[in-house]
Amino acid sequence: MKIAFFSSEVFPFAKTGGLADVSGSLPGALAKQGAEVKVFMPLYNKIKPQKMFDDYGTSQLAKKVEIIFVRNDDYFLREHLYTSPRGDYPDNLERFSFFCKKSFDILKRINFSPDIFHANDWQSSLINIYLKILYKNVTLFKRAKSVLTIHNLAYQGVFEKEKFPQLGINPDYFSVNHLEFYNKINLLKGGIIFSDMVNTVSPRYAKQIQTPDYGCGLDGVLREKRERLCGILNAIDYDVWNPAKDKLIYTPYSLETLENKAINKRKFQKEMGLKVNKKIFLLGIVTRLAEQKGIDIFSKALDKILGNHQVVILGTGDEKYHKILKTKAKKHKSLSLHLKFDEVLAHRIYASCDAFLMPSRFEPCGLSQMISYKYATVPVVHYTGGLVDTVIDYQDGGGGFVFHNYHHKDLVAVIERAYKLFSRNSEWSELLKKITGFNFSWAKTAKEYMDIYKRCQLLSSAQLKAALK
Ligand code: ADP
Repeated sequence: MKIAFFSSEVFPFAKTGGLADVSGSLPGALAKQGAEVKVFMPLYNKIKPQKMFDDYGTSQLAKKVEIIFVRNDDYFLREHLYTSPRGDYPDNLERFSFFCKKSFDILKRINFSPDIFHANDWQSSLINIYLKILYKNVTLFKRAKSVLTIHNLAYQGVFEKEKFPQLGINPDYFSVNHLEFYNKINLLKGGIIFSDMVNTVSPRYAKQIQTPDYGCGLDGVLREKRERLCGILNAIDYDVWNPAKDKLIYTPYSLETLENKAINKRKFQKEMGLKVNKKIFLLGIVTRLAEQKGIDIFSKALDKILGNHQVVILGTGDEKYHKILKTKAKKHKSLSLHLKFDEVLAHRIYASCDAFLMPSRFEPCGLSQMISYKYATVPVVHYTGGLVDTVIDYQDGGGGFVFHNYHHKDLVAVIERAYKLFSRNSEWSELLKKITGFNFSWAKTAKEYMDIYKRCQLLSSAQLKAALK
C-alpha cells in the first residue's frame, strides 16, 4: 500500500508538540507493516535536506521512508512555525494552501500514486479537500482514498471569508455543507467533510468531540461523520524515549537498575537549584502553557503544592501564564521554572522526577504520561480524553493517580494521595517497577492505521458521493 503522509511538523526536523512526535514515528512504523510511505512537510528554517532540488528537498526519515520538504522561502523561512509572539502569522492560509498544492505537483513529478492520502490537522486538511475537488480526475490520484487525523480539535484553521479566492476552488464551496463556519473559512471542517475517514488520537477523545462540551463548534459535523470516525491511541517511540539508552539524562537506568533513577534525581535537584533530598517529593511538568493543559487550576494549586513538595516546570505559551508563574517562582524556592522549549531539559524532567503532572482540561491523547511510565515517573492526571484511555488510578490497580473534578483543590488532593504512597517506600518502588514495563509502542498503533486505510479502500464511490451530498 502506498501512502502519502502530510504534516506541518515532523520530529526531529520541527516540533511544537505531539503532532511532531507522531509524524516522526508513525510513518516508520507503517513501513514496518509493509507500506510504502512518503512524508511531506514544509522546508522550515534550519532544515538541511540531504538532497535539494529547485522547489523541494528530500531526506530519509526512517528505513524505507522518504521525507519531502516543500520549499517556499518567503513562507517557511521564519522563526516560528505558525505563530510569533505578536500572534498567528496573517498569511497562514496562503502558506498552508501553498504547501498542499505544491505537494500534489511534487507527487506528479515523482510519479507517486498513493492509495491513501493521510492528512493531519488543519494545516494539511486542504490535501483531502483538493483531492476531491481539484485532482479527482487526475489518473495518478484516481483510486486514492483519504484519511484525516485530528490531533487537537481546538485548532481549526479559521480565516476571514475574503481569503476564500486564494484557495483556488469554486466559491460555491463556501457553504455550510463544505468550508463555511459562521461566515468564516474553516479548513479543519472542510477536511472532516471531504475525507473518507477521520480519526482522532484516542478512543475517548473521539467520543468526547461529538458532544457540545468538547466539540469546539464542530460536534454536529463530527456526529454526522460518526460512521467514518474513530479513535486510534497514539504511541511513543522507544528509540527516543528510553532511559536505558537516553544520552540526554545524567545516568541511564532500566527495570534492573531502577536505583539509578535516584542518581538522576539528586543531580537534577542540584542543577535546578533545589534542595538535594531524595525524600522530598519532586513533581515535573512539561507542557504548552495553554488553558487546555490545565494551567489555570495548576497555578491556583501551586502555593499549596510548593508548601510541601518541589516542582519543576518546563513550558512556553500564553504570556498570561508566563507572568503568573514568574511571580510564583519569586515567592517559592521549591519551584524551578523554565519558560522555554528545551528537549534536553524535558528528558531530564521525565527521568528525574517522582511524579509527572497533567491536569489537562481536555487532552486528545497526551504523550507525556506514556513517556513518564517508561521513565518510572508516576503520572498524575485529570480524567479526560486520552488520559482516560492510558491512566488507571493506583487504587483501581493502575499505574497513576487520577482526579475527576476539574478544580485546583482536587488537584492538590490527588497529589497528596500520590505523596502518601511515595512515603511508603516499598509500595512506591513496586509501582515504579510496574509502570516502567507498560508498553505503548507504535507497532499496534500502526496496525490500526493500516486497518482504517484498508477500510477506506473498501468504500465505494457511490458511498463517498452520498457522504458528500
Ligand atoms: P501537545 O498537546 O502539546 O501536542 P502532547 O502531550 O501530545 O501535547 O505532546 C507534547 C510533546 O511536546 C511531548 O513530547 C513533550 O515532552 C513535548 N514538549 C512540550 N512542551 C515542551 C517544552 N517546553 N520543551 C520540550 N518539550 C516539550
